[in-house]
Amino acid sequence: MTSFNPREQIQAMTGYHSAQVDVPIRLNTNESPFAPPDGWLDAVSDIVRTVQWNRYPDRAATELRATIAKRHGVSPENIFVANGSNEVIQTILLAYGGAGRRVATFEPTYQMYSQIARVTGAEVVEGERNADLTLDPQEIKRVLTSYSPAVTFLCNPNNPTGLIEPRENLEAMLAHTSGVVVVDEAYAEFSEWSAVDMVSDELPLAVTRTFSKTLSLAALRVGYVVAPRQMVADLEIAVLPYHLDAFKQAATMAALGFVSEMEQRVEAIKSERARIFAAISAMDCEVWSSGSNFILFRPRSSEATEVWKRMVASGVLVRDCSSWPRLAGCLRVTVGTVEENSAFLGALSHALLGQ
Ligand SMILES: *Cc1c(COP(=O)(O)O)cnc(C)c1O
Repeated sequence: MTSFNPREQIQAMTGYHSAQVDVPIRLNTNESPFAPPDGWLDAVSDIVRTVQWNRYPDRAATELRATIAKRHGVSPENIFVANGSNEVIQTILLAYGGAGRRVATFEPTYQMYSQIARVTGAEVVEGERNADLTLDPQEIKRVLTSYSPAVTFLCNPNNPTGLIEPRENLEAMLAHTSGVVVVDEAYAEFSEWSAVDMVSDELPLAVTRTFSKTLSLAALRVGYVVAPRQMVADLEIAVLPYHLDAFKQAATMAALGFVSEMEQRVEAIKSERARIFAAISAMDCEVWSSGSNFILFRPRSSEATEVWKRMVASGVLVRDCSSWPRLAGCLRVTVGTVEENSAFLGALSHALLGQ
């Protein structure tokens, strides 16, 4: 008989899932509600015909890295691109984490940090946020000086809380780290500040970005990191050869031509975010202020999973975070189009009334 015997870390874990229920309005995974521009689709159909499909792609993604580097005013040697920022995170953990090393997170935060850290063999040390989900620099100091993690993650703005981290939290990490600090800026465009300008070859700081949110390309799977040259060289050793296919490199180059168009949509999302925030606050819910494209909230007198189910019944899917550690009773909604958001608010107010 075949006996499946995965590594201990794998046996101890369950996968990362977001329930994909087939309903008309899906506001559970923080994507852009808008399709990429038609001009990009036209460019992509030309690209399909010009790719040399029988040849391996440019392993160093030279042109793509140069274009991204220009956008941030750094050298192409400061840029590493991968299949989504999740693969960037995985590559960082392969290069700097692993067996016998520690990785620090400040919970609750994006679950993939601890998930990938464990899968790749590291020990995870969890710092704690306050009851209001803010993070104190003293806690950062405590975790970093007691455990000397090889990798420390800061998600800014934080997922799933939506909160913007104060700069002093990153400063505390840089002051007390003996490893590398990774700032995940998946939602940077919706936020008030970015650490990307702080990246230099002398500082152990890496900042990740993704095309999956503001840039409307979650299906394409592209993300990157702006990091010191030495770190990029280390990541290139850890990653598989030819991990970025030729089509993706060209399609991403084309997408960079539409960044300003995409960024104009950020203002529309922010104004909808303000509208939803005010409306949820006026209902029987606790709400966290958001610097991203989603909002975390907690119904005060209804059970969260019940509310979630009633909303699904009215055709609206949000994220049920209520079983996640430290997020009892919480739900998270992604800001969608005006129509989607109105449907969400209608469904929520019905659900809170028990209907
Ligand atoms: C959505 C998200 C990402 C994006 O991951 P991709 O692999 O680039 O799609 C990364 N970090 C956080 C915190 C996210 O919420």
